[in-house]
Amino acid sequence: MSTETASRHFIRDIVDEHNRTGRFGGKVITRFPPEPNGFLHIGHAKSICLNFGLAADYGGVCHLRMDDTNPTKEEQKYIDAIHTDVKWLGFDWGPHEYYASDYFEQLYEWAITLIEKGLAYVDDQNAEQIRQTRGTLTRPGTESPYRNRSVEENLGLFQRMRAGEFGNGEKVLRAKIDMASPNVNLRDPVMYRILHAPHPHTGDKWCIYPMYDYAHGQSDSIEGITHSICTLEFEDHRPLYDWFCDALEIHHPQQIEFARLNLTYTVMSKRKLLTLVKDNHVADWSDPRMPTISGMRRRGYTPAALRNFCARIGMTKFNSTTEFALLEHCVREDLNKVASRRMAVLDPLRVVITNYPEDQTETMSAVNNPEDESAGRREVPFSKVVYIERDDFMEDPPRKFFRLAPGKEVRLRYAYWITCTDVIKDDAGNIVELHATYDPATRGGESPPPDSAGNVRKVKGTIHWVSAEHALDAEVRLYDHLFTKENPDEVEEGQDFTAHLNPDSLKIVTGAKLEPSLADFEPGDPIQFERIGYFTPDIDSTKDTPIFNRSITLKDTWAKMQKKQ
Ligand code: ATP
Ligand code: MG
Repeated sequence: MSTETASRHFIRDIVDEHNRTGRFGGKVITRFPPEPNGFLHIGHAKSICLNFGLAADYGGVCHLRMDDTNPTKEEQKYIDAIHTDVKWLGFDWGPHEYYASDYFEQLYEWAITLIEKGLAYVDDQNAEQIRQTRGTLTRPGTESPYRNRSVEENLGLFQRMRAGEFGNGEKVLRAKIDMASPNVNLRDPVMYRILHAPHPHTGDKWCIYPMYDYAHGQSDSIEGITHSICTLEFEDHRPLYDWFCDALEIHHPQQIEFARLNLTYTVMSKRKLLTLVKDNHVADWSDPRMPTISGMRRRGYTPAALRNFCARIGMTKFNSTTEFALLEHCVREDLNKVASRRMAVLDPLRVVITNYPEDQTETMSAVNNPEDESAGRREVPFSKVVYIERDDFMEDPPRKFFRLAPGKEVRLRYAYWITCTDVIKDDAGNIVELHATYDPATRGGESPPPDSAGNVRKVKGTIHWVSAEHALDAEVRLYDHLFTKENPDEVEEGQDFTAHLNPDSLKIVTGAKLEPSLADFEPGDPIQFERIGYFTPDIDSTKDTPIFNRSITLKDTWAKMQKKQ
């Protein structure tokens, strides 16, 4: 599938240049390298679309690699979720699923090679000492007193680190580069640390684990990756990436950095998302308010909408924040094309059609999707009592209110024209029911024939309805942004990002009345409740208690903004 469509960008220019010069023999092998310490989010989707899309467009392959070098934070459930989410987005890694942990033996061998070349040493300083002697941007670091150990001593100590002879943090292996380098990443970075913790994939086999900078580039090299694409904050790590490949004289991929996705009203870091889950601000990683791929799926966003969004935001070298409204625009654009139209009343008001025969049911023919003729039509049951939306009636309407009011006529979509005759109230004065009459000559919502004088009767308003007798009772969940501030990280002193959580991010509507055919839909099926918004059944929805999630409202703020500009 060519998804990384349309837009040219600087990464393609780099790949084209490599193909022209033959640097990688015309091959394009990319990888998507998640750390399985959380669920994937929409930012990861940008990286997935880029890496898999580039491979597809250049006839290459894209690997899925679990970057599993930190056993204390990684779990199998995250690996499972990563599989599901990447597939759902529409991508296929084929046989190319890899784990950095599968390379631990090779990485260890290469560490030995570096020690033998005099390019790595065992340091007895603890993490705090190493931090304090690293220097600053303006001041060089100071060399460790252990920096000039002999190759033999280093080999012996490193082997004993592996054998488990030392406690956590007692020793590390460092690359011997340059403590005075203007690039802090080159000041003898740590390659291995001691961590007595079992690993989800390698079990108890290891008690030393490679650091990201060492493991990542060498994993790329082992897999023959040509273009190792990562986010901008790794730009200053590239010299180190290159140093390891050069020092080891192994296949040398090209690291390329691009700007990560940031979205308004959204936090994206997995650490913060984990906090939201752990502190029960949301139900779980797949809560429909989460910016996770699984949350968006549960909410009813489509893979095509997310891919299209990723294509539209493009690739740049500078950080910026994308409007959430653009994502919503892409979701609406796709849902408008594919969603089945149905009628649903969220705030029901009973209407009794007094001149309609008791016990009669008719079926009305309704269009399934005006944007897609092949979706066909369906039959909707109609009977003497129907529900309409409470705010489609006003007892004392302003002049331009074209819906239902006492003595006024309105079209029930696909059914009949009705005229309100009576307003029934309870003792407290609340409207509990309307009485109306219908005109049999308007069946299907059609205009009646002209009267004897040739006058044509018109109605201005058309409203949706559901037959009371046939209605499906459901719960409907309405979602809003999880945060009230465009930038949730902008907080007062002493607060954290949870300070701006939106207390109204979820509203639960019980007692909604739905067209009966809505019982036939599955979670993920795109539906438009006419005049209300886009919805899909929730994964917890059952035949007995149907639950629908609002994916998005109909109003497109982003399209409006673009028009004004
Ligand atoms: P987070 O900061 O959310 O924890 P991460 O970079 O630690 O993200 P990884 O699992 O390591 O998470 O990310 C896997 C890949 O996805 C990396 O190549 C990373 O560059 C990319 N990625 C992560 N977040 C974004 C983002 N917001 N936009 C684009 N790409 C991203
Ligand atoms: Mg990372």
